Amino acid sequence: MQTALADFISATPRGREADAILRSCVHCGFCLPACPTYQLLGDELDSPRGRIYLMKQLLEGAPVTASTQLHLDRCLTCRACESACPSGVQYGRLLDLGRALTEERVPRGRAVRLKRYLLRQLVPHRERVRALLAAAHAVRALLPQALRARLPATSAPLPALRAPKPAWPPPRHARRVVLLEGCVQPALAPDIDPSAAQVLDRIGIAAMVAGDAGCCGALNHHLSAHAEARGEARRNVDALWPHVEAGAEAVVVTASACAAMVCDYGRLLEDDPAYAARAARISALARDISQLLATESEAVSAALAQVQGTARTDPPLRVAFQAPCTLQHALRVRGVVEPLLTAAGFTLTPVTDGHRCCGSAGTYSILQPQLSGELLRAKVAALESGAPDVIATANIGCLAHIRSATPLPVRHWIELLAARCASG
Ligand code: SF4
Ligand code: SF4
Repeated sequence: MQTALADFISATPRGREADAILRSCVHCGFCLPACPTYQLLGDELDSPRGRIYLMKQLLEGAPVTASTQLHLDRCLTCRACESACPSGVQYGRLLDLGRALTEERVPRGRAVRLKRYLLRQLVPHRERVRALLAAAHAVRALLPQALRARLPATSAPLPALRAPKPAWPPPRHARRVVLLEGCVQPALAPDIDPSAAQVLDRIGIAAMVAGDAGCCGALNHHLSAHAEARGEARRNVDALWPHVEAGAEAVVVTASACAAMVCDYGRLLEDDPAYAARAARISALARDISQLLATESEAVSAALAQVQGTARTDPPLRVAFQAPCTLQHALRVRGVVEPLLTAAGFTLTPVTDGHRCCGSAGTYSILQPQLSGELLRAKVAALESGAPDVIATANIGCLAHIRSATPLPVRHWIELLAARCASG
């Protein structure tokens, strides 16, 4: 694609980066069928190619309008278009730049500004989320069904697995990793990280927690609050670094969206001399739990063989696995979780259109409820179509979103693996 970037940006680092991305797009349109918003709305401007064209105009100095902002807001940042693109266009990176510029130039209405502000003040703060959940639980019976469904249920163990509630094992191995707990996950689904720690313990790896770490920064980043996102990344680098210096061989994250964000810390802080080197090192060590276990498959098989050697009478549990966009499109992790679940004795049920977003997408379900709801209904229908006993996913946002629309239990897949390891 030919470009002629405007003077205000052409000589800047972000201008050069945007120019390179724009030039890599050949306008072939292969990305269109992969785009959920194009599939729903049928408007080229709600497709990757259309949005790239809008961002080209913006970067070439054309007036920015509320319509441009609307089409960029409607993007889920699912990056399914990147997986479909034969030219390797880094659409997600271009969108970050395009949204930041639009945010600077198009004022939002007061109600939308307030909503975005409140989300940024609440969600990245674990204690505030806990307090809100406690208050919501206290008045649970009075809440409308739609809100009630979003509240986490008391996390009773799955009966068919008969596994006890997971506890964090004491560190007893020389091999160590550090876990980033994040913000909402410990409040919404507190069993996920202890489950990961248990599985790691079974394969000879101790999992430590970076106590002073918090939100990975993804929420602020995707709402174009880049200074706040960089601040959160710096705080996490400070919290994780002592563990890295002490020999942690990986920075492990159990929410795929947060794992993708931590993988980006090196780029996010590359212009900060006080943090650039440490952030790059932490990005290099960052792993979604599935990525780490994929490299330890023999040890996982051995741990499973130990428990499977004991007498079992429970029938195989049927599992529908939802691969979050951040896992399959951002981290490019595909076909890793499914064999682990199969090896653990679960039966996987078919899920059509597995590449399609569930509509959670960070704050999208709150800021774009109609489109998000349509995607959610389609995703739940696809997940339920094989009559599973449980739905498994790899990201807390997807978990909470899907849980709001199905009577089936929805768990992180590592909880299923941990329960299997513990229930022999
Ligand atoms: S983003 Fe990729 S797939 Fe889409 S039009 Fe451009 S080159 Fe083609
Ligand atoms: S990120 Fe997702 S919603 Fe946005 S343009 Fe790409 S495929 Fe469409």
